[in-house]
Amino acid sequence: MKPEIKGFAPSSLVDWDGKIAAAIFLPYCNFKCKFCSNKELVLSPEKLKTIPFSEIKEKLEKNREFIDGVVISGGEPTINPEIVKLCTEIKNLGFKVKLDTNGSSPEMISELIEKKLVDYVAMDIKTSFKNYGKITGFSDTEKIKKSIEIIKKFPEYEFRMTLFPEIKKEDLIEISEYLKKQEANKSFFLQQFRNWSCIDENAEKIKPYSKDEIESFLELIKPYFDKSGIRNI
Ligand code: SF4
Repeated sequence: MKPEIKGFAPSSLVDWDGKIAAAIFLPYCNFKCKFCSNKELVLSPEKLKTIPFSEIKEKLEKNREFIDGVVISGGEPTINPEIVKLCTEIKNLGFKVKLDTNGSSPEMISELIEKKLVDYVAMDIKTSFKNYGKITGFSDTEKIKKSIEIIKKFPEYEFRMTLFPEIKKEDLIEISEYLKKQEANKSFFLQQFRNWSCIDENAEKIKPYSKDEIESFLELIKPYFDKSGIRNI
């Protein structure tokens, strides 16, 4: 048995930097980020059609020549123990796997890394640790710190943050300082917040940071990281 798959992109240029990747989306999440735009996938995935893995497998085989890998995203994929079987199946097909995670399940991240079932891990850091609960509804930041500790030892990783305007310069600096101190500062990306179809309808009334503001945030954090950048601007 594998996890129910509720979304599939046969080829994408935006889910794995520098690669053409397929993307698989698993339902449910243990966070409720105010700015999350995957509302249905997180809150009511039963309304979405389940895509049989056999269908996905067929498309992956067909596109094998130009697909570099498969991204496992969500929702939050690590809350489903069946992800181990899914990643095994994809690795057995000969594809590289990228994991997108909110970092709430260090045990699962560790298992996937130890079993060599992932080739790249991208973890969202939502805000400063003191404000985690306010933005995400998830307050167990020890788990987040544990995941950072695990991921930083993995050769291929990135951390990233969506700049929801409730997240301030101070939050970003606090996290940047923390990652540098932990020697988890290989790469960090800032992402633009999109104010539509958000879990919290009030978030839709919030004006995203401007391009100039986001660029000024990037200048602030650049000194902390070997590599940094902006996405979705
Ligand atoms: S943005 Fe937040 S709520 Fe939405 S899928 Fe990611 S971690 Fe879950």
